[in-house]
Amino acid sequence: MKETPNAYQNLALQPLAGDWRNGSSGRVLTVTNPYNSESLLEIPLANRADLDAAFVKASEAQHAWAALPAGERAQVLYNAVQIFDQRRDEIIDWLIRESGSTRLKASIEWGAARAITLEAASMPNRVHGRILESSVASKESRVYRRPLGVVGVISPWNFPLHLTQRSIAPALALGNAVVVKPASDTPVSGGLLLARIFEEAGLPAGLFSVVVGSGSEIGDAFVEHPVPALISFTGSTEVGRNIGRIASGGDTLKHVALELGGNSPFVVLADADLEQAVNAAVFGKFLHNGQICMAINRIIVEEPLYAQFCERFAARVRELSVGDPDRIDTAIGPVINQRQLEGLITKIEKAQAEGARLLVSGEAQGNLLPPHVFADVTPDMDIAFNEIFGPLVGIQCAADEAHALSLANQSDYGLSSAVFTSSLERGTRFALGIRAGMTHINDIPVNDDANAPFGGEKNSGVGRFNGDWAIDEFTTDHWITLQHEQRHYPF
Ligand code: NAD
Repeated sequence: MKETPNAYQNLALQPLAGDWRNGSSGRVLTVTNPYNSESLLEIPLANRADLDAAFVKASEAQHAWAALPAGERAQVLYNAVQIFDQRRDEIIDWLIRESGSTRLKASIEWGAARAITLEAASMPNRVHGRILESSVASKESRVYRRPLGVVGVISPWNFPLHLTQRSIAPALALGNAVVVKPASDTPVSGGLLLARIFEEAGLPAGLFSVVVGSGSEIGDAFVEHPVPALISFTGSTEVGRNIGRIASGGDTLKHVALELGGNSPFVVLADADLEQAVNAAVFGKFLHNGQICMAINRIIVEEPLYAQFCERFAARVRELSVGDPDRIDTAIGPVINQRQLEGLITKIEKAQAEGARLLVSGEAQGNLLPPHVFADVTPDMDIAFNEIFGPLVGIQCAADEAHALSLANQSDYGLSSAVFTSSLERGTRFALGIRAGMTHINDIPVNDDANAPFGGEKNSGVGRFNGDWAIDEFTTDHWITLQHEQRHYPF
């Protein structure tokens, strides 16, 4: 391993259409540390002209990139993996300072982003065309698997590095160009840092632009732009719905991949190992303060274990350390910003007003919100019905297994889920009854493997990430036939 290089400089500049430069809007975004409000960076924002230049240049650069031998594209991805290793501390430091990640969460995120980069490095050599039989005499029928062209990526602030990289890395590996619009809270870890990494890895200029701009100025223009063939969006269901509408209803129709909100049920059946279920629930709820799309949103416990579970869970949650995310022993750091904090406090007040029983609470300080736990929650309460995305959770009591399954399915979302039971076969039957993209038996709903299908059902989205599923998502079929001997037509 080489020595750690100097930290990247000039991160306020954006890679726009092949040059590192300031955005041209005349407006400036101040990036702040959510823990102590320290100002980290002033970024001059991009405007529509910058966006247009980025898409046009991406479109030009894509052809030569796609024409490279697969091994050359793979090498750039392998180089990026090596840079992830060399710059591990620098990347983790940005995640802590910019997104309020605890050291643990930042390390997990760094690992996930590295893993998808490594997986993507194998993708150029995993794209296979097909030869088909033809119903026409002397016709050869081939299916080529081709890059889509230019991919537009819009990503959220909660796992900015990973959730941007899981689109960028496969898209580039498979011969596409990419333009990214990162979330305003995390433009560095959600885009600018990745652009520096890919430049250092040898990616040709112009193939990957990052456009940091305000949603109101460039949001719709990004999705409506005629160049991108696919909009890969990760974020809330509300915004995703609108993006799906624009992308498939405008002048230029395009593919959309939507990874949206979640409301993961965590079900504890009466035969579960109580201690293990409690340990899992604490981690699966409070990792990154619950600001994870797959985080536990509802805990559902079968009646014989309900009282014990509530007591043990509350006791463990009271022990969680809340504070500076940079400290190795901190479990709960700041939520991302004041607006999120206010929304969460409203949810706490609503849960109390709706009659949920408060087991654990505490006062917010700055953006630090101590964990809150409610018992005796019913499915119609806001805290159960809607996505929380913060360090609060409600526990529901299920009369029996069938009731637990019915409660688990009482949601408009269908991203991830989990069930605890001492019988893996019973767990599998239960899992198959849940309408969700992902279910984990005797584990937390927060799981992501670079080679396994990641995605949701219902209002949690359309499409799948990772492995072979990303190859499908970021390429398209082109049917080409060769007529070897003259064909006779009826007229
Ligand atoms: P958000 O929908 O508010 O924003 C996501 C991104 O969309 C940001 O980059 C934002 O700037 C951009 N955006 C907002 N309005 C836009 C517009 N009109 N046009 C174009 N872009 C626009 O979501 P968030 O608050 O950043 O993230 C939290 C949400 O994301 C939660 O609901 C969470 O469940 C979801 N999420 C889903 C997954 C998943 O894989 N399914 C992963 C992480 C987060």
